[in-house]
Amino acid sequence: MQAQSADGQQASALRTDIAHSARIYDFFLGGKDNFPVDREAAADIEAVWPSLPLSMRANRQFMRRAVHRLAAEHGVRQFLDLGTGLPTEPNVHQVAQAVHPDARVVYVDNDPLVLAHARALLTGTREGRITYIDADLHDTGAILASPQLHQVLDLERPVAVSLFAILQFVVDEEAARGVIRDLVAPLASGSYLALSTVTADSNPKEVTEGLAVYAARGIPERARTRDEVAALLTSAGLEIVDPGVRLVHRWHPDEESAALPDACVQMHGAIARKP
Ligand code: SAH
Repeated sequence: MQAQSADGQQASALRTDIAHSARIYDFFLGGKDNFPVDREAAADIEAVWPSLPLSMRANRQFMRRAVHRLAAEHGVRQFLDLGTGLPTEPNVHQVAQAVHPDARVVYVDNDPLVLAHARALLTGTREGRITYIDADLHDTGAILASPQLHQVLDLERPVAVSLFAILQFVVDEEAARGVIRDLVAPLASGSYLALSTVTADSNPKEVTEGLAVYAARGIPERARTRDEVAALLTSAGLEIVDPGVRLVHRWHPDEESAALPDACVQMHGAIARKP
């Protein structure tokens, strides 16, 4: 189902009769942007994957640490965040602009509810511009050619591309490699790619059963091993930076994340640099 969105792009219509990944995630994070169908799906998923809400929170905290590190340690001032999700404070631009008030952020998602909220809530400042592109992750050509992207980002200078908790929805490995390769190709040397994605390494039983429920609800996902995540990055010519691919709560942990047992966290995270 397609509808014309305000910026002239094609947006899918809001469906409240089928569960959606962004709204299930929002529910597990304690948000209010979800419908009965999402809460029913979440209950079915949580019955077999009880640690998922903890894992999702650990992912969100990883996003904060990763973006903060990209800005503060690596000096990045431009961000392209794909799979933005429903606004959950702090969002990427708030983390980046707390370090560099002039940081610029382009958000990309394909969910109409995310789009509506993003237009209302994800507003920039004169010095720290942000914009939102309604696009599918697979459509890298359209994303990279978007005039909105070029109004906000200067690709001659380093950019951090982020794929937080979205690659698990790209089940085909060749497609995932292609997406990363395409996104990284036009970037300047010294750019970064940050990602987090689902793994079964730390809890095979819960993840296998949980992904079967997601699939039955029409949301296929792929879990990846640590080596598979590393290969996605290195096959695009990227150098994985310290401390490598880790369960997200083990990646430069703070006190809170360090206290979580590995079996409760089913996401790997990493940052890699374009040489
Ligand atoms: N990055 C956020 C939100 C992750 S939820 C975080 O880590 O906290 C995953 C998001 O990816 C959802 O908002 C969903 O709408 C979006 N998404 C899933 N598949 C997508 C696709 N093919 N193209 C664009 N966005 C997609």
